[in-house]
Amino acid sequence: MATLTEFTPSLSALKRSLTHVYHIAYAPAIKKAYLFHWGCNLKCKGCLCHKEINCMALEENLDVVFRDPRLRPPQTPAGSLSFDELITILEKVELAEVAFEGQEASLDPTLPEICRYLKGRNARVVLHTNGVAKADTANIDEVIVSLKAVTPRIYQEYTGLSNSFVLENFKRYHDSSVLLKAESVFIPGYIGFDETEKIARFISSVDKSIPYRIDAYFESGDNPWRAPEPAEMKEAVGIAKQHLANVYSTQQTKRELTKADLLYEVIRLY
Ligand code: SF4
Repeated sequence: MATLTEFTPSLSALKRSLTHVYHIAYAPAIKKAYLFHWGCNLKCKGCLCHKEINCMALEENLDVVFRDPRLRPPQTPAGSLSFDELITILEKVELAEVAFEGQEASLDPTLPEICRYLKGRNARVVLHTNGVAKADTANIDEVIVSLKAVTPRIYQEYTGLSNSFVLENFKRYHDSSVLLKAESVFIPGYIGFDETEKIARFISSVDKSIPYRIDAYFESGDNPWRAPEPAEMKEAVGIAKQHLANVYSTQQTKRELTKADLLYEVIRLY
């Protein structure tokens, strides 16, 4: 039988390994880094990466929510960092928390080693995931699963894939030791009140205390949908609260954001 060490890459091989990280943002005030991964196993019609692939909180991206998605062609990263390059950048800053963002971090073969390094720095580790693949949670503190939809037809149409893995993996994350949260995007008339209630019901069938965040859709990709009104977001939260103890929403309503509108400054490390 193979032993664990046979699967652990040597240190020099690990340093040369390419991660999927193509961009790093950092909030000095809270010592939080955001590692952006490239590559995904879904093809969501409303994916933010159709519009912007770097952190939305950077000063140059504060217009993203109201930016016309048809003005710029979709971007792709020039490349990704090696494990050694990533660590060299992170060594230069203090770390209280690190969030995996961008596309799907669970597909990065170096993710367990990145997490192991971050726990060695005593950083809190937060994974944002679509839940299609189940990540090794040995060194992860919190997992936020984006549920998209629970109705199989809507999920398949929106993402191109069946949601059976996601719903099963959501339960598996709940059975693990991580703090589990859920989120979805509210799209009026599509992933609207009915579907949001179904998502809330599904979360509640796993555990009523799982926090659920509902994000307001904003234009991304070439889609016919409109952004919701604040009153619609309030109603969606009210519907979800009939099933769950902790529901909240996010929505940017101010068109012109400046750095002064942010809770803290976010800068680019890479
Ligand atoms: S799971 Fe996220 S990154 Fe992947 S296609 Fe959907 S929205 Fe985009």
